[in-house]
Amino acid sequence: MTDTILATEHLTVSFDGFKALNDLNFSLAAGELRVVIGPNGAGKTTFLDVITGKVQPTEGRVLFKGQDLRGRPEHKIARLGIGRKFQTPRVYLQLTTRENLDLACNRNKGVFSTLFGQAAVEDKRRTIALLETIGLSAKADMRAQFLSHGEKQRLEIGMLVAQSPDLLLVDEPVAGLTDEETENVGNLLLALAESHSLIVIEHDMEFVRQIARQVTVLHQGSVLCEGSIETVQNDPRTIEVYLGQ
Ligand code: ADP
Repeated sequence: MTDTILATEHLTVSFDGFKALNDLNFSLAAGELRVVIGPNGAGKTTFLDVITGKVQPTEGRVLFKGQDLRGRPEHKIARLGIGRKFQTPRVYLQLTTRENLDLACNRNKGVFSTLFGQAAVEDKRRTIALLETIGLSAKADMRAQFLSHGEKQRLEIGMLVAQSPDLLLVDEPVAGLTDEETENVGNLLLALAESHSLIVIEHDMEFVRQIARQVTVLHQGSVLCEGSIETVQNDPRTIEVYLGQ
């Protein structure tokens, strides 16, 4: 039996009576990479907002590793092991690539443990490994302001990974990227999928085809279609509300 890392049960989020999510039942297996697509207004951002605790469910619940997330504040949910990457990169432009990663590694620790002792040695090793993973070893000492948009996106993904989440939520990581940068980000997400569970929200269907194994189509706050990329691309309702536009 596959372990489920994240599930939503009858999840509804209403804004002044309007249901942004409507009785949404969703399940993600541990170690799975799922791409979520759907037209504007389908509820994709609200879906991430309710998982991370930014928005509370009106009805239903979110279970992460079997724990009900209702009522928990955002920072506590993050500490349980859920990392979120927003669409625009949020890196410290005046710091180098390496310093950004060091800072992310140390975010939840006290100053003493980060400056002295074994923790500091381990963190340095971890930063070197992360630089390798995100393909930025050669730019470790470059200030983030001089990185390309795609490199900044990879750096921020590295900063999330530095905090050791089990589940990564990634919102439109390739918007505005060149083809080459898009491919690099795709390869990074595929590499991370070897050891993490991921939900990626995406519009760019070329990119979806590059990374997707399983796809969920959201429409009007509910699951319209779910399955392999082939299943979704051939689904008449998905073509009608999204792909055919
Ligand atoms: P998507 O990310 O798929 O484009 P959203 O989750 O942003 O969709 O929005 C789903 C629906 O919920 C939209 O109709 C949007 O206008 C509405 N909505 C989202 N957030 C709020 C809010 N804070 N207040 C009122 N309506 C909202």
